[in-house]
Amino acid sequence: MKYFSPIHNRSKNLRPPDLYEYFVDNFWFKTIDVENLKINEPLRGSHKADIVIVGGGFTGLSSAYNIKKKFPEKKVVLLEGAFCGYGASGRNGGFCIATSLLDWNQKDPERREKDWRVSSYGVEQIKMMISKYDVDCDFEENGMLAVALNTKQAKELEEYQEELKTFGLESTLLQGKDLEQEIKSPLFLAGLKEPNGATLNPAKLAREMKRIVEDMGVEVRERTVVTRIKPGKTNYIDTELGDIQAPIMVMATNAYAHKLGFFKDRVFPVGVFQIVTEPLSKAQWESVGWQNKQGLSDMRTMYSYSIPTSDGRILMGGADFVYYDYDALSSGNDKIVTQRVTKNFFDFFPQLEGLSIDHAWGGTTAYTLGRAPSVGVTGNHKNIYFGTGFSEGVPSTQTAGRIIADLMAGESNDFTNHFIVNRNIPYTGPKNLRGLFGRGVKWMIENLGFSPIH
Ligand SMILES: Cc1cc2nc3c(=O)[nH]c(=O)nc-3n(C[C@H](O)[C@H](O)[C@H](O)COP(=O)(O)OP(=O)(O)OC[C@H]3O[C@@H](n4cnc5c(N)ncnc54)[C@H](O)[C@@H]3O)c2cc1C
Repeated sequence: MKYFSPIHNRSKNLRPPDLYEYFVDNFWFKTIDVENLKINEPLRGSHKADIVIVGGGFTGLSSAYNIKKKFPEKKVVLLEGAFCGYGASGRNGGFCIATSLLDWNQKDPERREKDWRVSSYGVEQIKMMISKYDVDCDFEENGMLAVALNTKQAKELEEYQEELKTFGLESTLLQGKDLEQEIKSPLFLAGLKEPNGATLNPAKLAREMKRIVEDMGVEVRERTVVTRIKPGKTNYIDTELGDIQAPIMVMATNAYAHKLGFFKDRVFPVGVFQIVTEPLSKAQWESVGWQNKQGLSDMRTMYSYSIPTSDGRILMGGADFVYYDYDALSSGNDKIVTQRVTKNFFDFFPQLEGLSIDHAWGGTTAYTLGRAPSVGVTGNHKNIYFGTGFSEGVPSTQTAGRIIADLMAGESNDFTNHFIVNRNIPYTGPKNLRGLFGRGVKWMIENLGFSPIH
């Protein structure tokens, strides 16, 4: 006899109940003392601006920075539903991959060189902000270490090294004792050490960017949920407590954009989760090695990424992802996924068994077919700028802000001619079939090690 089970069937990717998202167990939020954070007043009443930016993550903040730099006289207003850094930008792994905007299919060497300049710009902009505006975000430019867990992945590391060379980028293959000198895990067979790339505290960076753009004169409204947008020659933007109109707007809501009717059926909102341990003792750090503290990732299609935090913990994320049916957003906590990340962590580092996991959290990021973002301008009046589809967006969203400002200024340069500009994101099917599609993609990743979105 079949009994009714009160436990919902997670194979259907049911999101936890859509009640609230007040208590994301986010370690980074703790480091910015979120409970005592000064959050700006919401927008109330009716207003006008030259440019309205929707979304206070890295895309919105970098757009605000670059636009205000180019057009200091314009009234720029940024609207953020919660607080700047509340979305993926304040929750992520702090992994800054300088290569994430390279077009691996590009064969022209001159074009490849230009692509590298655009791709590495995000990290450069963060470095510029650190030196010019005293940004404190625990930035460490220690490069990256990719590891292989089997011989197939070790071969892929060699191929990856060759690909990097075609962009003029040097890297070092490691095995045996050489690899152990960098990191100790019984599962790691080979590694590739790249000098480019960095790690940081993303919530600190978002709050510091908010400070910078406010100092430049951008009006930042937090606790301001945009409820409706009526695009036109003048865009009408309704918020929960007010409204604002502007001839130009920027949609900087990445994986949340479909809620406002943008990029529906083009962008998958995907839940990604991570954990952070308690601080490690000196002996525990010695058991892991990792003295060069690079960003660590593995070569599985469903890869994990890890970084050491500035207070001596290890953060690990990835190793799994969830598409919640009907494009539902992540609630920010999902222990079924974070338990998998925890298992992955102790599989990698059994010598740390017993170490406690202090925080486990996640958020919503965006996946597109072909995996690249799209940054550009749309609308009948070509006055709605946007950046969306950032799955690995820590540095690339910084670049997106620069691209948006350059496009607004009508410039033609390596940034505005980059392949992500106005990239036509492939259709991903109707909403009611996307769950099936998402599960199909995940099955392919888990069982065939291949994905059409990778
Ligand atoms: C758990 C996790 C780990 C990740 N790890 C990494 C990593 O290590 N490295 C990496 O490169 N990338 C990583 N990413 C991806 C990266 O964080 C994102 O690509 C990037 O932060 C996207 O920035 P954004 O500004 O476009 O979007 P978001 O940061 O999501 O910002 C969008 C903002 O819009 C606001 N908003 C949404 N709707 C409305 C509305 N209606 N009205 C007003 N405001 C609204 C939201 O509150 C949010 O603050 C990770 C993502 C997650 C979730």
